[in-house]
Amino acid sequence: MFDVAVVGFGPTGAVAAGLLGLQGIRTFVCDEQTEVYDKPRAIALDHEIMRVFQQLGIAEAIEPFMEPFTNSEFYGVDGQLIKCMSTVAPPYPLGFSPSLVFTQPALEAVLRQRVSGMPSVQVKLGHQVTALQTSDDAVSITVTNAQGHSSQVTARFLIACDGASSFVRKQVGIELEDLGFDEPWLVVDVKVNEKGMAKLPKVSMQYCEPQRPCTYVIGPKNHRRWEIAINPNEDPKQMATPEATWKLLSRWLQPDEATLWRQASYQFHALVAKEWRHKRVFIAGDAAHQQPPFLGQGMCQGIRDAANLCWKLAHVLHERASDALLDSYCTERKGHVTELTSRIKGIGQLVGQRDLQKARERDARLLAECGGQVKPTPRQNVQPALVGGCLDSAKHLAVGTLFPQAWIEQAASPVRMDDLLGCGWRLLLQSDVDTSWEQAAAAAQPSLSLKVQRLNAPGFQESSGVLASWFERMGCQAALVRPDHYVYGAFNNAQDLQAALMVLKP
Ligand SMILES: Cc1cc2nc3c(=O)[nH]c(=O)nc-3n(C[C@H](O)[C@H](O)[C@H](O)COP(=O)(O)OP(=O)(O)OC[C@H]3O[C@@H](n4cnc5c(N)ncnc54)[C@H](O)[C@@H]3O)c2cc1C
Repeated sequence: MFDVAVVGFGPTGAVAAGLLGLQGIRTFVCDEQTEVYDKPRAIALDHEIMRVFQQLGIAEAIEPFMEPFTNSEFYGVDGQLIKCMSTVAPPYPLGFSPSLVFTQPALEAVLRQRVSGMPSVQVKLGHQVTALQTSDDAVSITVTNAQGHSSQVTARFLIACDGASSFVRKQVGIELEDLGFDEPWLVVDVKVNEKGMAKLPKVSMQYCEPQRPCTYVIGPKNHRRWEIAINPNEDPKQMATPEATWKLLSRWLQPDEATLWRQASYQFHALVAKEWRHKRVFIAGDAAHQQPPFLGQGMCQGIRDAANLCWKLAHVLHERASDALLDSYCTERKGHVTELTSRIKGIGQLVGQRDLQKARERDARLLAECGGQVKPTPRQNVQPALVGGCLDSAKHLAVGTLFPQAWIEQAASPVRMDDLLGCGWRLLLQSDVDTSWEQAAAAAQPSLSLKVQRLNAPGFQESSGVLASWFERMGCQAALVRPDHYVYGAFNNAQDLQAALMVLKP
């Protein structure tokens, strides 16, 4: 029997299997396909996801396929700049460029290779899950290969990462809630030659034009993407033909300036699963939610799901926490996804306003809000905090937000904080607090393996002031950080910390 079975080896399933594998959890993962999908769907990701890749040990290996995301400039009805989304200025809060573009098939190949080499993970490609049974203490699946041979796999828990049309989600009867977005868009990926590159905008663009809203994204190297709204009188299938696509691209490029990598029509949805757990089955990634790609967050959301769930599963499987911890996955992730999707929808509605009068009003409002001078706002500002779930009940500003990751000076060269402290429970203390904090930390259950670290202690000098300025902004003396880097609690006296640690006892 496996501890966990993961259905689907796309980005969500691969990260889930990898995070479980790192903890030595006996994991089975299968995918009905034998190869990574060779065309990019996701093009953008953020620093939170890079931190997960760092944990998996692939941050350096995927660097060749990544570039910083340029600013996105929004242009209104009369071609005027109305909004600009940027990235946070250095020093970067999580130790990586906050917003990146990447080549999905290449990144996924590195991820799969890493996970496939983990001793406690068994990968079966070309195997489709065709049946599923749950009991009080296990989940059993039937996996069938291309020749029609079936076998049974049993695990204590199952994570369904089998994509938007999830077989598992349907089998366990979980329904999707419609968050009210339903529009046809054409997505075009293009490899541009030197002649074409010279003509194209040097930043990413949002053309907020009522007759044809459109997004232009600068991908890595010569990869460029357009997401183009399909009008009500147009046939999405016909719009995806090379002829129709080139006609739409003619504003920017001619066929001798680029090659089409892929073009496909999508119905952009905003959907979230009503429940995220059925007995011992959890759903994650596109199986649990879909959102329009305006902020490049779909895959990021799936990886957040995996990061949130896997440390909790490891705790329960290692008998460090009770099963109730697993319910916090559903509360935290459903709330986060729903809130972020509504913000993404807001961007979609802003870009995609089809009424000319309302679009002019939008332009005037946005310009009035910034006093006529558009100021770049970081994309990361859009991320909500976690609410409810496994978090300290005291409502401190920091609770449910990501704890930063600083570069720490070392004799040879600086290293990222997680590489030094690991990715378990951590207690970070201001440098000048008294020893009552360490005494309070001693109340933590040994199974929590709490790592206590004072700022500026020998061997822990940060080079850029990221941690110091975080503590100053948050006005706290200690931060208790979960294995997925979210702040469990922030404290100003050691008794409160001790009380919080008591709550965490299994
Ligand atoms: C046009 C477009 C642009 C996007 N841009 C971005 C972006 O910039 N940034 C971003 O973060 N996200 C983006 N996304 C979203 C992102 O691509 C998806 O959210 C992400 O790929 C979902 O990953 P997943 O692993 O959950 O699902 P999938 O990638 O769909 O993987 C599911 C896997 O499960 C397997 N499977 C299915 N059924 C079974 C079964 N019964 N048995 C075994 N295996 C099975 C499939 O073969 C597949 O490999 C975009 C999406 C689209 C469509």
